[in-house]
Amino acid sequence: MTNRPDLPPEIARRRTFAIISHPDAGKTTLTEKFLLFGGAIQMAGQVRAKGEARRTRSDFMQMEKDRGISVSASAMSFDFASQKGSLRFNLVDTPGHSDFSEDTYRTLTAVDAAVMVIDGAKGVESQTQKLFEVCRLRDLPILTFCNKMDRESRDTFEIIDEIQENLAIDVTPASWPIGVGRDFIGCYDILRDQLDLMDRADRNTVAESIQINGMDDPQWEEHVPPHLLEQFREEIEMARELLPPLDPKAVLEGTMTPIWFGSAINSFGVRELMEGIGAFGPEPQPQAAEPRQILPEEKKVTGFVFKVQANMDPKHRDRVAFVRMASGHFTRGQKLTHVRTKKPMAISNPVLFLASDRELADEAWAGDIIGIPNHGQLRIGDTLTEGEMLQVRGIPSFAPELLQGVRAGDPMKAKHLEKALMQFAEEGAAKVFKPTFGSGFIVGVVGPLQFEVLASRIELEYGLPVRFEPSQFTSARWVSGEKDAVEKFAAANKQHIGEDSDGDVVYLTRLQWDIDRVARDYPEIALTATKEMM
Ligand code: GDP
Repeated sequence: MTNRPDLPPEIARRRTFAIISHPDAGKTTLTEKFLLFGGAIQMAGQVRAKGEARRTRSDFMQMEKDRGISVSASAMSFDFASQKGSLRFNLVDTPGHSDFSEDTYRTLTAVDAAVMVIDGAKGVESQTQKLFEVCRLRDLPILTFCNKMDRESRDTFEIIDEIQENLAIDVTPASWPIGVGRDFIGCYDILRDQLDLMDRADRNTVAESIQINGMDDPQWEEHVPPHLLEQFREEIEMARELLPPLDPKAVLEGTMTPIWFGSAINSFGVRELMEGIGAFGPEPQPQAAEPRQILPEEKKVTGFVFKVQANMDPKHRDRVAFVRMASGHFTRGQKLTHVRTKKPMAISNPVLFLASDRELADEAWAGDIIGIPNHGQLRIGDTLTEGEMLQVRGIPSFAPELLQGVRAGDPMKAKHLEKALMQFAEEGAAKVFKPTFGSGFIVGVVGPLQFEVLASRIELEYGLPVRFEPSQFTSARWVSGEKDAVEKFAAANKQHIGEDSDGDVVYLTRLQWDIDRVARDYPEIALTATKEMM
């Protein structure tokens, strides 16, 4: 079951991953089938209508609404009885809307692998490509699911070529489709020498699997019509010649992706993919930190905050910090040290997001995601330990690409607005800058849709109608350097200076020319487009 028999079994059986895909490729459907096979829900729901609006928040939350399944935003845990033993899957949600967001990036810092879903008719689409690039930055192992094989799809070699070319990753087939579109009858499971036949009549039944003994097994003729069989035999022979065999080490390093073919809506190929996650999606991995790396099997508990969600319950101003456990065995009530403030914190109400319900977490192991309700102490990038001063690395904050001024509809409510903005800034939903000159705030985001989401959330959650308006600035850069140099620079450039929500100095401008000029005139300071969150 594991490449790491030395790990404690509870850690070795954990698989923490995200699903990346272009909208409409089938992420939601696949998630639902995961839950179905995981025994977390009894019956998958029906296809639903949807629009762009549903993508603005979490896909999981929307599933809750649309399908009446009780799931929770951001993370879901469920067990899967794999052939090699029981696995605990922690599936982490990546925001579904199409603006690339930091949120997505940070979510991917909390997982050990990603499942990439592509539509068999469309291949690698723009959003898949972007998300893949983010995974590549961290060398995340990627398992590919080519969905919608029940419909007219592209030629199998063409799909594989496209992935290899566009994403620069080796592709090895874990299964091979037999027939296309209406003629698609199922797949040959290459890894297990098995013929899996799809049941089109009942979308919730698992396909019939027939154990085969090599390509010469007489059972082929029994189950596959001659014209399909002939073509399939040719293809599989070509695949063996042209495509690399599965190399688990290369998968782990993120240079090779195994691909499964299937149809999520017909529950077909899903179980095989889940087995694949068990076999090749790695167990909890070491976590980069300062001054040393954290290993999952360490006895002492460590974890880090990768996401903060405010106002999950609009009646309470509470926030939930999502914490990825990096090591050890956590038990409820345990006191952990909040490294940034060096203060102890008793974690008495941790939440585990089981697909069937949201429950108090009595325990959690390295690899798990827990939610910690708090009043704002926990911020993105924070590390929790049993006392050692460790700081998890690699959770960046990006300079926003779009800036706008913001005003409360009612000028008397400016203080309220400030509070709301700070809350969203800490949640990571936007950057908020307070210019030294003038009144008001400047809000920065990565994608334009985020302004709309913010405006509607401020109105909904704080009862505060707001207006976004063009800002005189279009770029923000963090200023770093020796304290004296930064102060001197700030004093000489007051009309360009502001502070972010952490009190760090930013340089605001309209012109790249200004940024270049600063680099030339002030060699002792640096303007940066990212900062590490501490
Ligand atoms: P998401 O946007 O990636 O979450 O995609 P959804 O899971 O919502 O699926 C998008 C659409 O494709 C829905 O109408 C699904 O019913 C449909 N769909 C998903 N999987 C399949 C499949 O295997 N075959 C077919 N024909 N349609 C599918």
